[in-house]
Amino acid sequence: MADYLPFTRPSIDEETIESVAEVLRSGWITTGPKVAEFEKRLADYLGGGRFLRSFLHATGALEEALVIAGVKPGDEVIVPAMTFAASANVVLRLGAKPVLVDVDLKTRALNMDQAAAAVTGKTRAIMPVHLNGLAADLDAVYALAKKHGLRVVEDAAQAIGTSYKGRKIGSFGDLVVFSFHANKNLTTIEGGAVSLADAEETRQLETLRFHGITKHSDGTMDVTRPASKHNMTDVAAAVGLGQLKHLDEFNKKRRDLAYRYLDLLGDEKLGVVPARGDQGHSWHMFTLLPRYNRACPDRKTLRERMHARGIGLGIHYQALNQFSLYRNMGYREGQFPNAERIGLETVTLPLFPAMALADVERVRAALAACLEMG
Ligand SMILES: *Cc1c(COP(=O)(O)O)cnc(C)c1O
Repeated sequence: MADYLPFTRPSIDEETIESVAEVLRSGWITTGPKVAEFEKRLADYLGGGRFLRSFLHATGALEEALVIAGVKPGDEVIVPAMTFAASANVVLRLGAKPVLVDVDLKTRALNMDQAAAAVTGKTRAIMPVHLNGLAADLDAVYALAKKHGLRVVEDAAQAIGTSYKGRKIGSFGDLVVFSFHANKNLTTIEGGAVSLADAEETRQLETLRFHGITKHSDGTMDVTRPASKHNMTDVAAAVGLGQLKHLDEFNKKRRDLAYRYLDLLGDEKLGVVPARGDQGHSWHMFTLLPRYNRACPDRKTLRERMHARGIGLGIHYQALNQFSLYRNMGYREGQFPNAERIGLETVTLPLFPAMALADVERVRAALAACLEMG
């Protein structure tokens, strides 16, 4: 029996493990020189002369980016109905309203016609999500934002190393938020970052990241706002520095695996495959809408059968209006047909840098057998 194939697994090399041990032995383990180095190297990697500030996680970074964008209680923020719960939860945490719109079935990016129709006098920001590592239609997003004077907070949690029309996500744009959670294309175990263009907003972000503190040159400090605490540790940054060295190589491996999947599944006999995108797609995840049938009627059955064959399938994601929090806000079943279909049917196939091309064939064969479609 072959090894169990999970849908994802981080790749941490021995050099990175040794660098973590060095930080632990150094006597300085929280925010310090490694964090400063990680921020600098990441800003250099992205390019575009941007400010880059690290966070403990993308959830906190998204929330504070919305504060910088001026989102206040009663405001509205346009968010796709198909995303991880954090994207919309942070809007609610600020007392604002996430206004959901549907997504495209193959790209899973927010539908820009619906986004345009959702703008009201209360709309303050729009949050495109680069789901699965494929950039949303940013030309359309920024055109809509410009037309209505909206801020843009890009949820780029899944898009480190992704490009849009040849430009790296985070090298341009308004407020761009990355995640370095253990499953993401680059990990710091838990972590996040905001890329932004404005020096004064960067200074504000720093106070929002650390207790609302402004430090003075004489060693004293002032506290100017009741802020929270989101600073990354040097231990996490050491992991991130080790990862960053391999990011392009990891993403190339992901693309090779994804293209193999597309070669084997592209006829859509077994289900609806994702959009191919261009070379800028970082393939954070490869998702499939399988063709369920009488022999294999639903996702639960498929996941159990695949699990029995040693293959793990993820679920990314249920639609936001399928959760009680959003039902209780008045969102109903049937409002976002694509997001809801994805929510009920989608599976995430194994895809991570250490996986072999032969594993893709194993997954394809197991899917065909489990769906009883040869
Ligand atoms: C992972 C993820 C987040 C949250 O990131 P954390 O670093 O775990 O807080 C937010 N949005 C999307 C789309 C994500 O995939």
